[in-house]
Amino acid sequence: MKVAKFGGTSLASADQIRKVCSIVTSDPDRRLVVVSAPGKRFKEDTKVTDMLIACAKAGLQKGVADDELQAVVTRFADIAAELGIGDEITRIIATDLKARAEGDKSNSSRYMDSLKAAGEDNCAKLVAAYLQSIGVEARYVSPKDAGLLLSDEFGNAQVLPQSYDNMKYLSDLPGITIFPGFFGYSLSGEVVTLPRGGSDITGSIVSAAVNADLYENFTDVDSVYSVNPNLIKSPKPIHELTYREMRELSYAGFSVFHEEALIPVFHKGIPVRIKNTNNPGAPGTTIVKERHSITDPVVGIASDSGFCFIYISKYLMNHEVGFGRKILQILEEEHISFEHIPSGIDNMSIILKQHVLDEQKEARIVERIKNELAVDDISVEKDLALVMIVGEGMRNTLGITARAAGALAKAHINLEMINQGPSEVSMMFGVKAHQSNKAVGALYDEFFK
Ligand code: ASP
Repeated sequence: MKVAKFGGTSLASADQIRKVCSIVTSDPDRRLVVVSAPGKRFKEDTKVTDMLIACAKAGLQKGVADDELQAVVTRFADIAAELGIGDEITRIIATDLKARAEGDKSNSSRYMDSLKAAGEDNCAKLVAAYLQSIGVEARYVSPKDAGLLLSDEFGNAQVLPQSYDNMKYLSDLPGITIFPGFFGYSLSGEVVTLPRGGSDITGSIVSAAVNADLYENFTDVDSVYSVNPNLIKSPKPIHELTYREMRELSYAGFSVFHEEALIPVFHKGIPVRIKNTNNPGAPGTTIVKERHSITDPVVGIASDSGFCFIYISKYLMNHEVGFGRKILQILEEEHISFEHIPSGIDNMSIILKQHVLDEQKEARIVERIKNELAVDDISVEKDLALVMIVGEGMRNTLGITARAAGALAKAHINLEMINQGPSEVSMMFGVKAHQSNKAVGALYDEFFK
């Protein structure tokens, strides 16, 4: 059996929902369908989830959110009317939204999550109602009834392990099951949402729970591309890549598939296929455990900005027992997680996401490292980007570093850092953020042209 997840643009309008339903009914193996909330119909449009966040904010700040709520009701009502399933479902959705908006506001995060989850929940009800209206055996299943349990971290929940056993039975349900993405329930019965874009994670959890043969993730692009198509015109599509390659690429900015969504399917070895709702005939990109034919060393190039480096040097650092622990302890006490720590004999760089450091935190950390570790030199460099080349084939190919560094040098890009993790699946270059796009272009020309 296949689990098919559809993203927001696939559900943004009645026409899109018709496409989704025809994709689902065209393959009898597609029996479990996970849906996002309706997304953008056009570039300037607002996603239903963002409209719901506006509702929650208005409710919390002004006590009422009538206008904001009406906008969401109208959005759903228009879709329902166009699908010809009109009044009954619209009433159900309007009543549900009103109840959430009038709910308990004593805990703002809980209130926010209850509203945020309404996009997916009502979209699932709508799709199920439409399928029924065209004579298809379909049902909406609530994550509460299914036993999708999450940690009680509002807006950033993690799946609890018992969910997998709880949800096994979904594979035995007859007909087509429509399951809302993005949220579940805490042990105490509250609605909690996953991180933004989290319906990908729900799809993956459901796939793992029912041990699906394939997790299909329908979005609005034909495939994952070897580089961001906004940077390079018509880049090479990727037909197959490994979980590890996908993980590395999403770390540095590939946003087609949520970074956290690979974990459940990875543990079960379930392949993931990214496909296009608007062009379902295209082969898409399949993410697998192992690739058998590796012809090119590099599959993709990714880049992400917003990093900073704390550079530390101290003569004989390598002899000092506990040096690394003390530094990491300072970071831990400031509740900061680090990204990478490339090191030399007497120096190291700690690479952080820049947003984790505010001015006071930065000053405190620098002072503590200076005083507690008596370093010779410490400085913080900001506005850096990480550019990564990724590919399982790099492991067995000589000269990749030389080719990459040569291409960057030819493009006059100054390297702040080079780091190759022990897995040798990726190589990372730290550059000034303003040179990042140029670096990506130079590497693309080197490895793909
Ligand atoms: N609707 C949610 C969001 O916009 C979750 C999702 O679409 O995956 O973040």
